Amino acid sequence: METIAVQHLVHAFGERRALDDLSFTVGEGEVFALLGPNGAGKTTTVRLLNGLYRPTAGTIRVLGLDPSVQGGQVRAQTGVLTESPALYERLTARQNLRFFGEMMGMPAADLRRRMDDLLGFFDLADRADERVATFSKGMKQRLALARALLNRPKILFLDEPTAGLDPEASRQVRELIASLRRENGQAVFLCTHILTEAERLCDRVLILNRGRALAMGSLEELQRRFNPGVWVEVQLLEPHLIPAGELPFALQVQAQDALLRVQVSRVEDIPALVSRLAGLGAPIVRVEPARPSLEDIYFTLQAQAEEETL
Ligand code: ATP
Repeated sequence: METIAVQHLVHAFGERRALDDLSFTVGEGEVFALLGPNGAGKTTTVRLLNGLYRPTAGTIRVLGLDPSVQGGQVRAQTGVLTESPALYERLTARQNLRFFGEMMGMPAADLRRRMDDLLGFFDLADRADERVATFSKGMKQRLALARALLNRPKILFLDEPTAGLDPEASRQVRELIASLRRENGQAVFLCTHILTEAERLCDRVLILNRGRALAMGSLEELQRRFNPGVWVEVQLLEPHLIPAGELPFALQVQAQDALLRVQVSRVEDIPALVSRLAGLGAPIVRVEPARPSLEDIYFTLQAQAEEETL
């Protein structure tokens, strides 16, 4: 069974369509990312999937349930981490978890065990009895993640989980997300505008712009479909000056020490590029076409979509 199935989803706030004909599915245990700039509709989608809004049109099934009429049942099986951790600053870490666990009706003994496990897993055991107000942003985010996992959710929604964290804390949160998946096999629905985050963590991504899907698929599928020119890496034995304008097939040339990165339009241009470089005396030791990154694909698609709306 699909964990999430969305068909032709439309959501309007007054006249404005925040989501426009969105369809996607998320499989069991899949890590799925919704990628898009500010205002693309990511948070709105998470709210709809958890039954906090009723869709204007279209159908949503989460774990086989309709969140707009069975929201409570859906939320009992999901965990949500929002951009700003919803925690009580004046309570300790343990008191926060106890409060939310009791609200969800978790039996006392189970809740105690679960809290100990999560505080340990998120490296917060030493500070468990200190007030959250004394925590760093990264610690708060780890505690918020623990809170989102209390009820052993089948789907974990992460809305910008590393927003406002420094690189070290972001990496820690990313590693925790990756390890959760390895250990529990739960589905993760990640909203982010950080492309490397999606690239590292996700099985599939949906690229969103102004509420519309621009593309969906695994990174490999997207690379095959939207190859914005081919980058070729040419490793030289030693740095070699290539005079500007000497490579007629090249769209762009980047040189860093003995590594040249050249963009050509088609794979078929590579042999001519290599013979031209050899003709210029470049001491070539390796030539390798580089795949476009998710970032290359994302910006190409977003730019196309913006051009179309103009
Ligand atoms: P961000 O990364 O900034 O959080 P997002 O992708 O999560 O952006 P949403 O918050 O889902 O985007 O917003 C999508 C669109 O819907 C935006 O144009 C936003 O202004 C609009 N919107 C969101 N919530 C409301 C609301 N309660 N009332 C009116 N318009 C709203």
